[in-house]
Amino acid sequence: MIAAVSPSAADTDVLIVGAGPAGATAARTLACAGVRVRLVDRAAFPRNKPCGGGISLRVLTRFPYLERALARIPTHVLSRLYLEGPDGHATVIESDGPAALMIRRVEFDALLVSLAVEAGAELVTGADIAHAREENGRVVLTSRDGRRFAAPFVIAADGVHSVVARRLGLNPGWPATAVALDMMEETPRDRLRDIDPSTLWIAYGYSTKPEVSSLKSAGRDGQTSDFPLQTSGKRSAPEGYAYIFPKQDHVNIGIGYVLSYYRESVDEAPYELQRGLVDRLRARGIVAGESIRRNFTPSFIPVGGPLREPGRGRILLAGDAGGFVNGFTAEGIYYAMVSGDLAAKAVIKSADPASLGRRYAAACDYEIGVELRDSVVIQRYLFADRRRIAQIIDGADRELAATRLILDYAVGRRSYRAVRWRLLARSPLLAGRLVWNRIASGDGASRARKKSLSAAARRH
Ligand SMILES: Cc1cc2nc3c(=O)[nH]c(=O)nc-3n(C[C@H](O)[C@H](O)[C@H](O)COP(=O)(O)OP(=O)(O)OC[C@H]3O[C@@H](n4cnc5c(N)ncnc54)[C@H](O)[C@@H]3O)c2cc1C
Repeated sequence: MIAAVSPSAADTDVLIVGAGPAGATAARTLACAGVRVRLVDRAAFPRNKPCGGGISLRVLTRFPYLERALARIPTHVLSRLYLEGPDGHATVIESDGPAALMIRRVEFDALLVSLAVEAGAELVTGADIAHAREENGRVVLTSRDGRRFAAPFVIAADGVHSVVARRLGLNPGWPATAVALDMMEETPRDRLRDIDPSTLWIAYGYSTKPEVSSLKSAGRDGQTSDFPLQTSGKRSAPEGYAYIFPKQDHVNIGIGYVLSYYRESVDEAPYELQRGLVDRLRARGIVAGESIRRNFTPSFIPVGGPLREPGRGRILLAGDAGGFVNGFTAEGIYYAMVSGDLAAKAVIKSADPASLGRRYAAACDYEIGVELRDSVVIQRYLFADRRRIAQIIDGADRELAATRLILDYAVGRRSYRAVRWRLLARSPLLAGRLVWNRIASGDGASRARKKSLSAAARRH
């Protein structure tokens, strides 16, 4: 167990609530800059967190110190992605080097917390924050057991259900269209056996209904020729996904749906869905063994894009608390770490509460805002018409240059900004949708970009 301390009487400059990837990264950045920082979590570490544990490899480019630190925990890297659509289309994308890092959150999060503590952050565990208020130029937090914590600045990294964001009026809660219910088990690979350990397996627009699911027909290599494809006519896709993420000794198998879709269109309970998924995968020869219920943990992911105002006055929201998740891939660990780092740097740069929130929002917007906003539009665009998922999958085979661009982005060789225009040029309809979305959202900056996006759309 990572040693926590009793909160010292000494003042602290910054309080961080939540020691997941966002909070622990923020704490390390602040401590490295010599800022007095207290990292408060209701859990003691190591603690588990329901998560697939897949991170695009660019995390090592963005946080170079991780490379050495990761030697302390078991990791697994993958360079092969199997991607399947709702109508039986499937493709395999191979990278020329590792593209995804697979970790177990119980180990990875404890590692990040250790790095923060080693840098000088003070860790307080077992403090479940229940109340937050601003008082005389300080933010005061109170835990369920009555402990009181106060500091001039707070970074709330307390996850998707952020109590701090709710109590201080920054987020009343996510609408059901903006969260996914992700149902997942992390089971040792000697119990859920025979998975291909070299492949990230994803079914996008995954249906549990046999008549629209390809899962009955497509085998490990995506051979689907004996199955009738339903590609004529516009039909929406199920707003969900299924996945197999192999780890060194474990495998995470899961299924997720946008919550509003789950409530309206799925009539199975979470664990029934999970067991059904494992049964189908077994019938296809993709996995052997049984689902293990005690390893199953359903949980939520914010997939509707970051909050417009991820900070106000003395409070900044990082990670899931601020909605920093890719709506298309549901990847959140990377963005949690980036937003945590940016929140810390915003505080280090200037302690003026009048401009802190604005500067933090601008920094997030500059580094990850465009890709996160686009990701939500892409998610809705693809779910609206299942043929679009099929086009993407078919395109991955034909358009090798585009596939290479995406891989370059995933491993950190190119930024999203650098690949965005070239990818959008291949999909004028999607480009048009993104332009429209920016205009409709009333973003002034988007008007300047509108012209060049429209030009990209016109060229094709
Ligand atoms: C089933 C599932 C699968 C996923 N798979 C992936 C994946 O494969 N790859 C990926 O990149 N992302 C994935 N995600 C998303 C990813 O898990 C999150 O985006 C990420 O954990 C966000 O990190 P965070 O630090 O913001 O919050 P968290 O990791 O949720 O950490 C929040 C911390 O705050 C603490 N806390 C909460 N409330 C309080 C309180 N009131 N007082 C004190 N402490 C508190 C918690 O104990 C916790 O330690 C998945 C999510 C789910 C649910």
